[in-house]
Amino acid sequence: MPAELLFRTDAYLKSIRARVVAVHERGIELDRTIFYPLGGGQPGDTGVLLRPDGERIEVVDTRKGDAPDTVLHIPAPAASRPEVGEELTLGIDWQRRYALMRLHTALHVMSCVVVAPVTGGNISPDKARLDFDIEMSALDAGRIERETNELIARGVETATEWITDEELDARPELVKTMSVQPPRGAGRVRLLRIPGIDLQPCGGTHVRNIAEIGAIRVLKIRSEGRRNRRVEIALAT
Ligand SMILES: [Zn+2]
Repeated sequence: MPAELLFRTDAYLKSIRARVVAVHERGIELDRTIFYPLGGGQPGDTGVLLRPDGERIEVVDTRKGDAPDTVLHIPAPAASRPEVGEELTLGIDWQRRYALMRLHTALHVMSCVVVAPVTGGNISPDKARLDFDIEMSALDAGRIERETNELIARGVETATEWITDEELDARPELVKTMSVQPPRGAGRVRLLRIPGIDLQPCGGTHVRNIAEIGAIRVLKIRSEGRRNRRVEIALAT
């Protein structure tokens, strides 16, 4: 059963109540959720589901289910399992998620400083990376750091927009990430717009204003294969 994916419209929701719709070996499904499931290089959320009697079910990971818009909340092995129909209070590990949101949005900004096809990417709570199809000599850590931080300092508000599959097909230049094609078939695709900086399909969670990123530092640049160059960043503060 599809869940209402509240993180899509408000990435800042830290706690809500939701009802259990299914419990099976792969996880717990709820009628709505603020837990982001692993996807697009962003890890699944962790946190807790609180039962009416106060018992805590630790959520160690969140994954997409097989059907569209289904979300599996994966409980710690020793945690109890709720009953279908039970109302739970959800709480995400906000400190971890907010770090992911800041780093995720920082990658959008950095992808506009390094002008090259993106071949991959990954985000963790303490660092994030993008892989580019580019010559090593074209990458300068000091320049990438400085120019990314100059863009972040513009402090613009981010915006979510939706376009149809057909509109996206007509604008292939929007898709920078060759390895991760935006999900199709649902009829519409979500875009993240950072006005004057970036516009690309993305289903992840982002900060409202890029000033929240603060600043980034480039941790390292290295070769990952013949044409692949990996740029790894962290938050400076
Ligand atoms: Zn994104």
